[in-house]
Amino acid sequence: MMQKLDIKTRSQIEFQEITIKVREIVRDSGVQNGICVVFVPHTTAGIMINEHADPDVVDDILNQLEEIVPQRGEYQHREGNAAAHIKATLIGSSVTLPINFGELALGTWQGIFLGEFDGPRNRQALVSIIGDK
Ligand code: ZN
Repeated sequence: MMQKLDIKTRSQIEFQEITIKVREIVRDSGVQNGICVVFVPHTTAGIMINEHADPDVVDDILNQLEEIVPQRGEYQHREGNAAAHIKATLIGSSVTLPINFGELALGTWQGIFLGEFDGPRNRQALVSIIGDK
C-alpha cells in the first residue's frame, strides 16, 4: 500500500521531522515484517534520516549545506533555484527503512526529515509499505 503525507514547509530552507507521521502509517498498515520506503516527488526537496534528539544536528547540516552550495553562485539554471536542486540531490529523494515486529526499526537517535530547499511550499512524501501481516 501507499499513502501520501502532505507537508507544509515554513521557511526557504529547513528540515521538518516526519517520523511520527510515518510511524502511524506503518502501524495502521498492520505489516509486521517488511520495508517502508519514503519518497519525495520533488526536485528541490529531499529526505534524510539523521539525529532527532539534538536539534542542533539538523541545523548544522543545513548550515553546512549552505556553505557547500550557496544560494547565490555561478549557476546556469534560469529558474534561479539551482542551489535548491543541488542540495536536494545531495540529500536524496528517498529513504528505505526496515519494519520489524510492526515498528520502524529506527535507531534511538534517528528521525526522518523532509529537507526543504526552495520553500515555503506544500510538499508531499509518498510512504510505500511492503511486507507480511
Ligand atoms: Zn528549478
